[in-house]
Amino acid sequence: MLFPAGSRWLAILALTFCTSASAGDVLFENVRIFDGRSATLSAPSHVLVKGNVIERISTAPIAAADAQRVTGNGHTLMPGLIDNHWHAMLIRVTPAQAFGDVGYNNLLAGDEATDTLMRGFTTVRDVGGPVFGLKQAIDEGIVKGPRIYPSGAMITVTSGHGDFRQLTDLPRTIGGMLTRMEQVGGAIVADSPDEVRVRTREQLMQGASQIKLTAGGGVSSPFSPVDVTTFTEAELRAAVEAAENWGTYVVAHAFTPAAIQRAVAAGVKCIEHGMLMDEATARLLAEKNIWLSLQPLPEGLRLGFPEGSVQRAKADEVWPGIARSYEFARKYKIKTAWGTDVLFSRALAQQQGAILASLTRWYTPAEALVMATSTNAELLAMSGKRNPYPGKLGVVEQGALADLLLVDGNPLDNINLIADPANNFKIIMKDGVIYKNTLSK
Ligand SMILES: [Zn+2]
Repeated sequence: MLFPAGSRWLAILALTFCTSASAGDVLFENVRIFDGRSATLSAPSHVLVKGNVIERISTAPIAAADAQRVTGNGHTLMPGLIDNHWHAMLIRVTPAQAFGDVGYNNLLAGDEATDTLMRGFTTVRDVGGPVFGLKQAIDEGIVKGPRIYPSGAMITVTSGHGDFRQLTDLPRTIGGMLTRMEQVGGAIVADSPDEVRVRTREQLMQGASQIKLTAGGGVSSPFSPVDVTTFTEAELRAAVEAAENWGTYVVAHAFTPAAIQRAVAAGVKCIEHGMLMDEATARLLAEKNIWLSLQPLPEGLRLGFPEGSVQRAKADEVWPGIARSYEFARKYKIKTAWGTDVLFSRALAQQQGAILASLTRWYTPAEALVMATSTNAELLAMSGKRNPYPGKLGVVEQGALADLLLVDGNPLDNINLIADPANNFKIIMKDGVIYKNTLSK
């Protein structure tokens, strides 16, 4: 009795978390397609995945004798989700652990990466953290996780956002030892154009697909008031030149009009957050075609900062700007990307899909899903030749990379399906490989 039952469970487990790395062909039959761009589903269709690419889409049956057949039953086939503001190394750790044991932190991050993929997020743009090793392990198939577009260490100024040193670490010896935070590769301090150039090139050398600088104060760091502007224009420009020489771009963390405008003047192509922008700054972003990578930060994140703390006071300042920024983004048709910026909370990370669904405060479900797929992929493509995953992401179309979700239901009607991936995502495929399959046979 025990053995048959045991083997049945093994079979179910194997079915649930199919890890086979064989990129055998897969034929999805009878699916309705959300292609990442359109506000409506396709007619019932068939989709053939060959290797890691979507080979053919047709309303007529496709002959593919050797392919694994998936009977879609009218479920929705859609592109894998993309989170454009993620910190893969900073989700499960506490702030104190973040610059602690590297081995432990990588194992934690690996487990979180698997959870991230199982939430249907097949790609993340990592905007700060020592993520190169995790990315490599995922790409080599050692750890299950999303594609990662790494920035490497966040580059900041002394006392800027990302400078997590304590006052007891001061004064720093000029030209002396690096601090623990810098050795680990989480964030690095640069206080002149020359230092910025060195640190930028070091990230590029490690495989950064884009460079992240913090142009103004931030919420979570201890010694950067939200109102301050940090890097000089010359310093920002040094990073932009080094990144552009390498064929890629710089993103800048910035809340205030002054910080955003200076970053734009220096040639930064994407503003992260921007919650305290004013109307003139919104207009500037639209005119100059600058990306705004905006996050509908959940209340849980704000409330996570202890009452009375510096961070909580700063969060209280920033949060009211979320709604206003989305209204500006809509009004001026700013190119807007979506991300979550979850930090130090496994529980909030589990809300990743729900945070996406919360965009319906400002957008239709279709607009929100287009943003988290094809629009986010457009921003990723800005990495040019430094794109670690050349090919089309964020769309279901012939020739695109096969990152696909099979959803029980129509997320364009009910976006909350995205918030419960365990139940509603029947198949999760990344790069042509099925990582989850709970379709009953
Ligand atoms: Zn962030």
